[in-house]
Amino acid sequence: MTRSDFLKLICVSPLSYYAMKLNSLNTLSNHLPTVSETMPVLFLGHGSPMNAIEENEFVRGFREIGKTIPKPKVILVISAHWETKGTYVTAMEHPRTIHDFGGFPKALFDVQYPAPGSPALANEIKNTIQTTSVGLDDKWGLDHGAWTVVKHLYPQADVPVIQMSIDDSKDASYHYQLSKELSVLRNKGVLIIGSGNIVHNLSMIAWDKLQVENYAYDWAIEASNKIKSYIQSHKHKALIDYKKQGKAFDLSIPSPEHYIPLIYTLALQTEKDTLQLFNDKAMAGSLTMTSLKIG
Ligand code: ZN
Repeated sequence: MTRSDFLKLICVSPLSYYAMKLNSLNTLSNHLPTVSETMPVLFLGHGSPMNAIEENEFVRGFREIGKTIPKPKVILVISAHWETKGTYVTAMEHPRTIHDFGGFPKALFDVQYPAPGSPALANEIKNTIQTTSVGLDDKWGLDHGAWTVVKHLYPQADVPVIQMSIDDSKDASYHYQLSKELSVLRNKGVLIIGSGNIVHNLSMIAWDKLQVENYAYDWAIEASNKIKSYIQSHKHKALIDYKKQGKAFDLSIPSPEHYIPLIYTLALQTEKDTLQLFNDKAMAGSLTMTSLKIG
């Protein structure tokens, strides 16, 4: 090495180093640039985990709605099946497929949904949310509230997917406000999906009516119709105050975890958004598959 080479090395290298570092920071902060198109928001009634491998009208509904949406850069799922104390986002590169159920055929346990994660989106959410301190999780993955439905929208598993947990110590009003902070992501190519079921009372399932199409108890029909009418007329306050809506609501929403993902979805609805209901049917008396596309 000549003296001038040496000088170049010591003089240029630090500069190149900082230039590189700046570049990589730029790449990070530009990972999710603002795009012109505003992404829709979905609420998906996921129902039985068997929907992952069965062919039925509901999975056809998921597939059809998938075709109407611009391909997202990343998907964020708020699933009924990840409840925590505090709020977390999955931040691993490769989320595992979680088979969080029992008593189903081996074929269902054999399913893998190997979509990559997105540490960049996880970080972006952590930095965006002011309501609470969001933790980065490296243990969860994709539970069945996420993968059994997302697999019908993107069967190639070629869109990164992350999940955000539901803090089960908080009420619906808190979740509604928290979700509003996610609205900026709709302009960054992120498809936000709430995955639950609007009417969901497993203790009252009519097992002998599983094969009867659109079978629902009177109280399930009453609550479902009221909820749909509140959604259509943008009466979010009544939906946040679901505990004050009487017996039909109490029976339809005996615990909040399958309902709260709907609250996350609705919080992202704006005046400009169109609204489409699909898979709007009941099952086995006490479950509805009603799903929404907003925007
Ligand atoms: Zn579920």
